[in-house]
Amino acid sequence: MTTTHLDLTADAVTLTGQLVDIESVSLGEQEIADAVEHALSAYPHLAVTRRGHTVVARTDLGRGERVVIAGHLDTVPVNDNLPARREGGLLHGLGSCDMKGGDAVILRLAATVPEPNRDVTYILYEAEEIEERYNGLRLLAESDPDLMAADFAILMEPSNALVEAGCQGTLRVEVRTTGERAHSARSWRGVNAIHGAAEVLRCLTEYDARRPVIDGLEYHEGLNAVSIRGGVAGNVLPDECVVEVNFRFAPDRSEAEAEAFVREVFDGYDVRLTDSAPGALPGLDLPAAKAFVEAVGGEVNPKFGWTDVARFSALGVPAVNFGPGDPMLAHKQEEHVPIEHIERCEARLRSWLTS
Ligand SMILES: [Zn+2]
Repeated sequence: MTTTHLDLTADAVTLTGQLVDIESVSLGEQEIADAVEHALSAYPHLAVTRRGHTVVARTDLGRGERVVIAGHLDTVPVNDNLPARREGGLLHGLGSCDMKGGDAVILRLAATVPEPNRDVTYILYEAEEIEERYNGLRLLAESDPDLMAADFAILMEPSNALVEAGCQGTLRVEVRTTGERAHSARSWRGVNAIHGAAEVLRCLTEYDARRPVIDGLEYHEGLNAVSIRGGVAGNVLPDECVVEVNFRFAPDRSEAEAEAFVREVFDGYDVRLTDSAPGALPGLDLPAAKAFVEAVGGEVNPKFGWTDVARFSALGVPAVNFGPGDPMLAHKQEEHVPIEHIERCEARLRSWLTS
């Protein structure tokens, strides 16, 4: 198979279109990774490493600081939204927003800034949109932790071309109520576990969301039932009901503290933890982060969803999201990216790396 050609001398918008036109649904990133590796290998100022379908390109100028600039190459499944199409100020197509606009900016910077004022590790990675075990950054952190080492990291996930800092953590628990089966014709002989769940739901509806301000950013927690199951048969009082609860917690709580909080809310119930991922503090007091925020215009928003920012944070690397596109459009059929966002992100990053 011949490698698809990517033209890194083209502008970032044209390049975004080229990237969109290489279909790269998760676990199908070979073609795009080949193209990216091939294109970057033409630049002698970059040391290129390939792991699976993740490509890393580094400058090694012995600068006092190193930053990671990263983007995932995969997309969610095709939904009649290929190839790329430019219309007015927008570029449409699968992955245009999430996140090939950001990837194009990364490739342009890698190719055209041979002597950045801080060393840069550019990472274009596989499998962000599916289960954690496939995640290219996770695999890279395991196989080559030195390639993830940095003083600061920027993930070019869509964030309306503004800095989004930190991210909220997430955990899931199952809250179980139990009862005693009985024929529903003689219900007074049993105990209905589904009725017992009413109290669990009351705790949830009465929950008052905490909105802590951290480094000047207001986060917003959420405690919600996301599924409920129970029932034996149409004429039997159920002896078990399970309410699955998702807690999105601000990054000033650790996973353990978040779990303890949920257990306190459901004190006296059988509570089982099924899933947990930590949040990430914005870290805006750290010099590298502060300098970046100032350089790109000063405006910062909190990130509510979980992103790979938390992965860097867990490695002790402060990280932010800064990329073109509206995150609300990610994974939607009509996904698109404003051309102006791509240009702004590229210009701001370029001046940060060269001034
Ligand atoms: Zn994404």
